[in-house]
Amino acid sequence: MIDRRLIRNIGISAHIDSGKTTLTERILYYARRIHRMHEVRGRDGVGATMDTLELERERGITIASAATYVTWNDHQVNVIDTPGHVDFTIEVERALRVLDGAVLVLCAVAGVQSQTITVDRQLRRYRVPCLAFVNKCDRTGANPMRVAEQLRERLRRNAVLMQIPIGLEAKHAGLIDLVTMEAWLFEGDHGESLVPSEIPDELALEAEARREEMLDALSLASDELAEAVLENRVTPELIHAAVRRGVGAREVIPVFLGSAYKNKGVQPLLDAIVRYLPDPTEVVNEALDLTDDEEPRPITLSGDPADECVALAFKLEEGAYGQLTYLRLYQGTLRTGDTIHNPRTGKKSRVGRLVRMHADQMEEITEASAGDIVALFGIECASGDTFTGGSPITMRSMHVPDPVVSLAVKAADNKSEAQLAKALARFSREDPTFRVTSDASTGQTLIRGMGELHLEVYLERIRREFGAEVEAGAPRVAYRETITRRAPFHYTHKKQTGGAGQFARIEGQLEPADDTDFAFESRIVGGTVPIQFIPSCEKGFRAMLDEGPHAGFPVHGIRAVLLDGAYHPVDSSDIAFQAAARGAFREAYAKAAPRVLEPLMLLSVEGPHEFHGEILASVMRRRGIVVGTTEDEGFIRVDAHVPLAEMFGYATVLRSATQGKAEFTLEFARYAPAPAEVAAELVADYTRRRQAGR
Ligand code: GDP
Repeated sequence: MIDRRLIRNIGISAHIDSGKTTLTERILYYARRIHRMHEVRGRDGVGATMDTLELERERGITIASAATYVTWNDHQVNVIDTPGHVDFTIEVERALRVLDGAVLVLCAVAGVQSQTITVDRQLRRYRVPCLAFVNKCDRTGANPMRVAEQLRERLRRNAVLMQIPIGLEAKHAGLIDLVTMEAWLFEGDHGESLVPSEIPDELALEAEARREEMLDALSLASDELAEAVLENRVTPELIHAAVRRGVGAREVIPVFLGSAYKNKGVQPLLDAIVRYLPDPTEVVNEALDLTDDEEPRPITLSGDPADECVALAFKLEEGAYGQLTYLRLYQGTLRTGDTIHNPRTGKKSRVGRLVRMHADQMEEITEASAGDIVALFGIECASGDTFTGGSPITMRSMHVPDPVVSLAVKAADNKSEAQLAKALARFSREDPTFRVTSDASTGQTLIRGMGELHLEVYLERIRREFGAEVEAGAPRVAYRETITRRAPFHYTHKKQTGGAGQFARIEGQLEPADDTDFAFESRIVGGTVPIQFIPSCEKGFRAMLDEGPHAGFPVHGIRAVLLDGAYHPVDSSDIAFQAAARGAFREAYAKAAPRVLEPLMLLSVEGPHEFHGEILASVMRRRGIVVGTTEDEGFIRVDAHVPLAEMFGYATVLRSATQGKAEFTLEFARYAPAPAEVAAELVADYTRRRQAGR
């Protein structure tokens, strides 16, 4: 069994187009796991090894996060490919959850951009220690020093340059390692050999100065190093120890540089990954013990391979060989033939084939232990499920945002119908932010997700991977509704038809509740509503939440309080109290000043300064409220709150207004009241649809 201290579980996080895919591929290459290098959109049409989906290959973006492993200096490095696009945030977050460290890739020319800021936010949320790699040092305009400065200024990270380049742009010939003060030149047909050399005279002074800067910055994170600096007895080992400590405590981001495309600087980066990023034994992992249903108890997993197995299924993938489930093991050992338990479904499964993945090749193994990442065949589960040896333990649930966009889909013919159903079932199991519902009033099938692009990618996959012809409606915003003031109800449900009658009476109130989607409270005393009918009332109220009486949207942020009531010894029943609650809800809701809520997004647009006017106008025209503007080095960034409803098609508009030179990110911020005219339109539309339906 491998020593767990030799394992690294890392992710490569980046702004799209910064070279993440190319870098990942080079890492695989250097670790001699693949023998030929392919360019991402290369002439040979093979594509990078990490991109397993045809669609991704075509778009050149990596959406699904596959895990693959390589060996380097006796270490086993599991590389989890994290998607770069912000619409797939849940995929990024799910991948981050299982990482112990990350490499943040930046472009030496573009530096810190709005998407980098989003990626940085995610790394912080999951407290992922990281290194930075400044890529594309071969490009015109490359300036890794400036990028390190931006990391300090824009991201407020303690970024420390660990190397300086020998030449940049077309003359990017090598680098100087500031820890050992050794110079290395990139040689060989593809720049893949590192040859020791002398520090060029013209760089000697700069190298000394940068080393001083590095030691100063690291001394802040390590008293031991600070002392050694004062006493003039610094050794590479002391520096390594200080960096490792600083990275683990997330106080330092060491910065490395190179060019993935030209194969430069990748081996030193791999050295840094195994040297500085934490191993699984250094990371504390928490879970919830569900023994007491009502009160889950937080526990810390031991990480001991001898203890009971606890693993998280973080990714499902339909591969050429059937369904693959990627697992991160947090505790215990998993062996083929073992029985594992899924506390969510209560189901037991036998571990059949256990494999380690290298992109789309695989290696059969018979066991794996805490800290490792492996894949299983033929296990039924949902993404995010926990597997254990039998105990009711769950890894703390991940932050799953509610979908904010929906779209109606329909199969174009009979054959496609079955395929569509299959595709939708599969995607909703794989991706918790992708949901499938049917519109109660129209009977249409709705797919719901985190953004326009998110749903578009699934539509394409339905067409390509499942061969289904589908027709899709226009994307729609997931509105909600709520009430804004307290209103009472006094409602009697009474029916006398033939045999047994129905009777139930309830009194109480509906109130706005900021802190919850729905709460029910009974303050009945003296049995005016018999105890067995109180759950019936709650059920009746809940039945009203899916389609609000105001505009037909899901109701959120409401509390129903039951104060009094009356019953009849013969005619009162579960059904009667449910009906009374529904009636009471309608009665009070209308008086409680209902209001439509719309999703408000955090928009961040960045582009060359000359387009400042166009960018600002594009935001204002969309009911945007600017919350910040940052300018530097000829670039302008505008941050704004903008209603999602105004953002469809924004990519095209921005592209044409700025000659394709600006880019943006869009993240869900919160729900906010829709403006009166928008709300009135939605209410009128709902009324029309309801009348047409009756
Ligand atoms: P990703 O979107 O972050 O995965 O980026 P890719 O790896 O797909 O790279 C985006 C583009 O940048 C591709 O055309 C690459 O060939 C190119 N690229 C990647 N790394 C480098 C580099 O080091 N130098 C140069 N000049 N181009 C690069």
